[in-house]
Amino acid sequence: MSKDPRGYYQTLGVSYSATYEEIKISYRNLAKRCHPDLNKGHDTTALFQSINEAYSVLSDPIQRRNYDQSGSPIQSVSRSQSARQNVYESKPQIDPYHCVDCGCVSPQLRHILYTQVVSFLFGSHKTNIWGIFCEQCGSKRLTKASIITGAFGWMSAPGLLYSAHALGRNLTGGKKENLINLEISLRQAVYYHLNGDKKNARIAATDARQFANGVQDGWWNDNEKRRAKELKPIIDEILD
Ligand SMILES: [Zn+2]
Repeated sequence: MSKDPRGYYQTLGVSYSATYEEIKISYRNLAKRCHPDLNKGHDTTALFQSINEAYSVLSDPIQRRNYDQSGSPIQSVSRSQSARQNVYESKPQIDPYHCVDCGCVSPQLRHILYTQVVSFLFGSHKTNIWGIFCEQCGSKRLTKASIITGAFGWMSAPGLLYSAHALGRNLTGGKKENLINLEISLRQAVYYHLNGDKKNARIAATDARQFANGVQDGWWNDNEKRRAKELKPIIDEILD
């Protein structure tokens, strides 16, 4: 088998050992150059599609690993495995969440809410920012927001109050809602589980269990507690 049977690496012009960052940069450049709207007169649609297909496989760690190992982004199922995997055949494949900044798929994505305050002479502008981030991008965002708030947040009376609150929140890692993060962690866990990646499935499911416990202990209404309870057997199944 050739190393690049569908030519994904060749299409994106990257080496087999390219990092996610290198793949993303190369994809963006190519996609810009080949975009059908910018190439009126010659048809680049097929090329554009093949660039997108290559990127969608190589930017997804699991699909890329499967492709490197077997030449197909979808894991091949051996006969001995197929009996076990039949259980999941009726279930649809699920898409994992991606980090909104770097696009990565990670078992430890978090929904984070943080606050940035910029003050002017007579007032302050407070922005609540939220999103789903990987660990690295999350801490980059929090650091940046804290620097901006620290530098520009203090210059008015309300700004002083807002800034103190914002910095307190940001420096403790932003606000992470248990229920939302439970749903996110569990989706990642199921995604990895269905793809046979036990290690990452466990990491995500362990976090999901923690968030589920957080919902049950905290100030949540009955519907939210019920939802957490509903999800627990799925977590248990993955962790067993
Ligand atoms: Zn990220």
